[in-house]
Amino acid sequence: MRCPFCGAEDTRVVDSRLVGEGDQVRRRRECQACSERFTTFEIVDLATPRIIKSDGNRQPFDEERLRRGFLRALEKRPVETESIDAAIERIRHRLITRGEREVPSRELGEWVMEELRNLDEVGYIRFASVYRSFQDVNAFREMVERMEHETQLGQNDLQLQLLTGKNRDPLSLDAEQKSGKKR
Ligand SMILES: [Zn+2]
Repeated sequence: MRCPFCGAEDTRVVDSRLVGEGDQVRRRRECQACSERFTTFEIVDLATPRIIKSDGNRQPFDEERLRRGFLRALEKRPVETESIDAAIERIRHRLITRGEREVPSRELGEWVMEELRNLDEVGYIRFASVYRSFQDVNAFREMVERMEHETQLGQNDLQLQLLTGKNRDPLSLDAEQKSGKKR
C-alpha cells in the first residue's frame, strides 16, 4: 500500500482489528519513509459480476433466467428441484468467487453444461444442442451417438426428446440475436 503523503511503497502495519460485524479489517499503517500514519479498510468484495453477451452488451446476472434455462432443459425429466437449486447455487458461487467484474455468457453456458451433464444426460443434450450452434448436422449427430454410447438411453427416446426441444437459446441471453440474423 503506497503512502498517501509521500508516495513511498514501503509501509508497515502497526495495528489491525476487525470492525463492523467482523466483516471488515481496519489497519493502521506507518510509512517507513516519512513516518506518517494512515488507516486502510479491507472488505470482502462479493459483488456478482455482470454478464457479457455475445453481442458485447452487458447485463446483470439473472438467477431466475438461469433457473428457467435449467427447467426448460430438464422438462419432464426425473431431476429433483433440490438438485437444480444446488447446481444454480454452485454456478452463482463460481461467478462470485471468480473475482471478475464481468464474465462472458459463453463461460456461464459452459458451467451450465457441466452441471447438466452431471444431473441428466437428456437435459444436457437438449441444452447443448441449442447452446452450441453446431456448424453442421454431423457434428451434432456425432455427439448424440457418443452420448448414446455412454448411456443406456434408447435411441427412440433420445430422438423424441431432441425433437421436442425448441430451437432457442436455453438461457434466453441471445434470443433476439439468434432469431434476427443467422450465421
Ligand atoms: Zn510517506
